[in-house]
Amino acid sequence: MQQAKQILKTAFGYDSFRTGQEELVSGILAGRDAIGVMPTGAGKSICYQVPAAAMDGITLVVSPLISLMKDQVDALNQTGIPTTFINSTLTAAQLNTRFREIADGKYKLVYVAPERLESERFGRLLGELHIPFVAVDEAHCVSQWGHDFRPSYMSISRVLGLIRPRPVVAAFTATATDKVKEDIVRHLRLQDPVRVTTGYARDNLSLSVLKGADKKAYLADYVRSRPNDCGIVYASTRREVEDICSYLVKLGVRAGRYHAGLDEEERARGQEMFLYDELKIMVATNAFGMGIDKSNVRYVIHYNIPKNVESYYQEAGRAGRDGEPGECILLYAPQDVMTQKFLIEQGEGDEERKTIEYGNLHGMVEYCHTTECLQRYIVRYFGASDGEACGRCSSCTDDREVADVTLDAQKVFSCVARMKQRFGITMTAKVLRGANDAKVRQFGFEQLPTYGALSSRKEKDIVGLINVLVADGYMKLTDSQYPVLTLTMEAKAVLEGKEQVFQRVAPTVRSASREEQ
Ligand code: ADP
Repeated sequence: MQQAKQILKTAFGYDSFRTGQEELVSGILAGRDAIGVMPTGAGKSICYQVPAAAMDGITLVVSPLISLMKDQVDALNQTGIPTTFINSTLTAAQLNTRFREIADGKYKLVYVAPERLESERFGRLLGELHIPFVAVDEAHCVSQWGHDFRPSYMSISRVLGLIRPRPVVAAFTATATDKVKEDIVRHLRLQDPVRVTTGYARDNLSLSVLKGADKKAYLADYVRSRPNDCGIVYASTRREVEDICSYLVKLGVRAGRYHAGLDEEERARGQEMFLYDELKIMVATNAFGMGIDKSNVRYVIHYNIPKNVESYYQEAGRAGRDGEPGECILLYAPQDVMTQKFLIEQGEGDEERKTIEYGNLHGMVEYCHTTECLQRYIVRYFGASDGEACGRCSSCTDDREVADVTLDAQKVFSCVARMKQRFGITMTAKVLRGANDAKVRQFGFEQLPTYGALSSRKEKDIVGLINVLVADGYMKLTDSQYPVLTLTMEAKAVLEGKEQVFQRVAPTVRSASREEQ
């Protein structure tokens, strides 16, 4: 272990191991398999890089993140640990050279994409080399239960069988439920591994969910109130990314965009500018950030609900990696859940896979509705034991008074019923507001008794009210391209005067109305 600490200091410049690192490194150096589950930013790489540098022979690092390999390899070479990578970006000639150099023992670490492992040539090479240690990064990719299953991960253990004697195998991931952990141990055939799961709770993050907010207005207010801070705004579709980005740019904010529809050069440039604070905000799809190491991201706003808690926490966790406070805000709207369902339906997975994905999405929707501590919800989701309530999240700090909104809710439900449950949120809000609108007149809705029933409120507030009523289960949006509002049994009970509706008003709505006074 003395040698490991020496390497940590001289090669990486760190004085001590962080929580979890020491246990994993000493276990690996003692010849034990290992599984390390540590949140993004906790320092997983050190856990295999230090043992790799300490051992005789070559360490293989299996990683799916081709775009990051080069950076990691460059960084290791700079620290004086000779490293290379094998992936699909190499030409045949480059591949020949690398194979020769690896066989000649020129490298201590070889990063390899899982697909490459399967090639016959690589298999032959494995038989000839001395490989005492294999690290599998992003190990959750081996599990069907995980959020990022990759079939190529299934063949890792077969390939490991080609290495004699059997190497020490260590698996790493940022997020794994108990089921996923068991899958990792089983599929990679880990033998009595050292298990380290460091806390999921991040004390410097404050999590919040905002329902029923006017998202664009909220975003504009938020970024303007923090002109010097860097942040990431995640949206689910490329089109939405483009739209939000140009909106922010028009406001004079230094925002950039990142999604898989941009060419590689543009993506790399954007990423670089963000890294060096030339861009303050990156608006991106989930394509952005796998392994991004920017320490001073102060906030991560999810403009749309992501597809599962694993992805959410991984993305939100990119805030505050330097240990300073970070805000993670999710702007919830029921339509976005429909979008995610649509994406699941359109996805390539079979029925079984889709059922898993629906279940994972449900966990995310529950996160948005829960009144318990959000940090605790996440910790529990990953199967860790309950901690104290964080005292920082939107559930913990929600001291707003609960208002009785039964009367307004009845007006909304009655209007939806009178519109025969055939229209969406916007149209319903227009009727309640009493808008002088051609489409409203076309259907004769200006004749309804509920026309103008909420005329004292702004249309966007009415939209907000409707959204929260949907989120709270009084109404549903149909599963279609143009989602239509329908009433549930709960709404009927309210209409019949059997139940009351209580609501907390979203902070933006509240502050907007305060300004008007
Ligand atoms: P992960 O892969 O878990 O997301 P990284 O391995 O990228 O995290 O490490 C996150 C950051 O923490 C990096 O900047 C890394 O250099 C730093 N780091 C890792 N271990 C230590 C340590 N023992 N002391 C100080 N900094 C560390």
